[in-house]
Amino acid sequence: MNDLIRVPAREGKAQALAQNESVRIVNTHGSQVVDTWAFNANDLGEFMSMEHTRSTIDKMMPDVGEAFLTNKRRAILTIMEDTTPGVHDTLNAACDVHRYHLLGYDGYHDNCTDNLAAALEAIGKPNRGRTPCPFNMFMNRPWSTDKQLYKEAPVSKPGDSLTFRAEMDCIVVFSSCPQDMNATNAGLPKDVHYEVF
Ligand SMILES: [Zn+2]
Repeated sequence: MNDLIRVPAREGKAQALAQNESVRIVNTHGSQVVDTWAFNANDLGEFMSMEHTRSTIDKMMPDVGEAFLTNKRRAILTIMEDTTPGVHDTLNAACDVHRYHLLGYDGYHDNCTDNLAAALEAIGKPNRGRTPCPFNMFMNRPWSTDKQLYKEAPVSKPGDSLTFRAEMDCIVVFSSCPQDMNATNAGLPKDVHYEVF
């Protein structure tokens, strides 16, 4: 195990993983949603895809021991451990400036879409304008058969974590979601941490 790396509140960070390396994301304060992406390190056009994963495995998300798939339906990240009650989201787009404008925010608001772009640019892998649907770790968005989606605060506890194993050389990006205008992050966005091993 290595030292914990901080993903500051409202910011994103990209991390390269070699095949078979693992990463553990810690919800340090328990209440923070982390938008998560993974890209084939050799081809950013191949990325972890929520819709390809759901339609291939016939459920909303993989269980522990199962993998998220890419848009080429190849395993990219396997969930090795989940210490939370297992409440996460695979349905909702990353937040963006337009989302905050719809909520009534005037001006520029930090957002996960721009965090993804900035994190990839920071490691010399620009991909701006392409934002796959993220795996929204810790996000509590219950849905019902009457077609309603609800927004509730995360049910994870401080120190809860998810661990993934990389099934190919990949780049993962984490964004500490800056949403501060609804219940998504149970109030103010906070730091999270991760380690690679
Ligand atoms: Zn967000």
